[in-house]
Amino acid sequence: KPYPLQMEGKVISGFGRGSRDLGIPTANLPVDYDSAPWLADIKSGVYFGWAALNLPPSHPNQPATTSPSSTTTAASGFSVYPMVMSIGRNDFYNNTVPSVEVHLLHDFEADFYGVEMRILITGFIREMRDYAGVDELIEDIKVDCDVALRSLDREAWALRETGKGTLDGS
Ligand code: ADP
Ligand code: MG
Repeated sequence: KPYPLQMEGKVISGFGRGSRDLGIPTANLPVDYDSAPWLADIKSGVYFGWAALNLPPSHPNQPATTSPSSTTTAASGFSVYPMVMSIGRNDFYNNTVPSVEVHLLHDFEADFYGVEMRILITGFIREMRDYAGVDELIEDIKVDCDVALRSLDREAWALRETGKGTLDGS
């Protein structure tokens, strides 16, 4: 499949199955096949890429605009973060709507339910696995986060070197 794949939507509540308690909150997105037709046949698994949040100016997660390391783009209210995400569907049943859950690699001050999020998937990490316990799951997710950060570092570097612009489109 040609990367990057894009989708966007407002962050909705998931099942609240305690991913936050495991230290891995996942921002859930509604599935909209009109804007992301590729979702209909993408395989289940863990993917990585970038997530952009359109935080309202007063939101507690809003980065300080004076910081030179801020990821906020001048032109819009979007802030860009690396992410790992799971796309999960029960492949046994046809036509089931997959769940889309995005873990942003950033420590936030507050929740951001209802906030507009855009994601850009740049690659696939692995297929879903079954776990005997949460410890193994958490170990795997830590590895996923490492893989994502290292890969995205390389991409950012490549973009800078080729002078093709920055990842936030500026
Ligand atoms: P839910 O089942 O409602 O998705 P989670 O336990 O998965 O609950 O927590 C997800 C929520 O946590 C997100 O919707 C978001 O508002 C908040 N959150 C805080 N930090 C992060 C983060 N780093 N990545 C994703 N979501 C986060
Ligand atoms: Mg979630």
